[in-house]
Amino acid sequence: MNHPQPYLVGLIGNGIGPSLTPALHMAEGRAQGLDYVYRTLDLGALGLAPEQVGEILRWARSLGYNGLNITHPCKQLVLRHLDDIDEVAATLGAVNTVVFEGGRAIGYNTDTTGFAHGFTEALPGAALDSVVLIGAGGAGTAVADALLRLGVGHLSVVDLDVDRATALAQELGGRHPLTRVDASSFDKLSVLLPGADGVVHATPTGMAEHPGIAFDAALLHPKLWVADIVYRPLDTALLRAARAAGCRTLDGGHMAVYQAVDAFALITGIAPDAARMTAHFRNLVA
Ligand code: NAD
Repeated sequence: MNHPQPYLVGLIGNGIGPSLTPALHMAEGRAQGLDYVYRTLDLGALGLAPEQVGEILRWARSLGYNGLNITHPCKQLVLRHLDDIDEVAATLGAVNTVVFEGGRAIGYNTDTTGFAHGFTEALPGAALDSVVLIGAGGAGTAVADALLRLGVGHLSVVDLDVDRATALAQELGGRHPLTRVDASSFDKLSVLLPGADGVVHATPTGMAEHPGIAFDAALLHPKLWVADIVYRPLDTALLRAARAAGCRTLDGGHMAVYQAVDAFALITGIAPDAARMTAHFRNLVA
């Protein structure tokens, strides 16, 4: 009897024990009738340095892995070990998914595509003329690129670290020369938010270990849509305040699920059931 090849997939990063991504992939694999194994390759637990990511990639390829997800701190380090990088990931300079195909390692960024897919699905028709991004770290960078690809007209990047916000705004402006992108200091939010269509929150504030809201909730108004990328918890203090102010909202679960949806599709070539993965994710988080 002919048995189809099992799928073997892994996640490389530090402190990835609590990640929900392995469970999400494996449950969808089972539901699709696939023999799908997803293993975490935790650098700390294995006593490996982030700089060894190229070596791990070579091993994974030789051991028959179909693909890998890559997370902190290897998303940039992995770049120079790839044979090819798709255009979105290349412009962003960060890869979170590697597919082994015909002896080649190809890099993608499904954080960016995942945010865009979740946004389009959950906030259809959202106005994009003027959007404020709060948080210019790794996740904020992926989200910013997605926002510009979605067609934002004017993006203001705000971070407590003004140099970081300025560097990101300059980088984005270089990549998307037709869009107005600028950096603002945190105290300018009181001027920016009243005239904005939407705000994306991409700092750790609101996570269980960093409770609270990153900015003054009195600045929320009903014409503003509010997207939070924090997903533990899903219903953050910011989203509660936004609903109370009459705003349309998007929680961080959409980005978390769609990065896995997009990675699953790239690795297997099979379209996953996004609604089923979403339901599974929300059960896991609850
Ligand atoms: P990071 O540490 O790289 O960046 C965080 C940025 O926020 C830093 O630049 C910091 O200066 C800034 N910051 C912190 N507090 C601030 C405040 N009060 N006001 C303005 N700026 C502030 O972190 P990251 O990797 O970008 O992740 C940020 C958060 O995004 C995580 O904590 C996580 O909850 C969330 N995240 C969600 C997903 C998802 O799929 N939904 C994916 C990745 C990260």
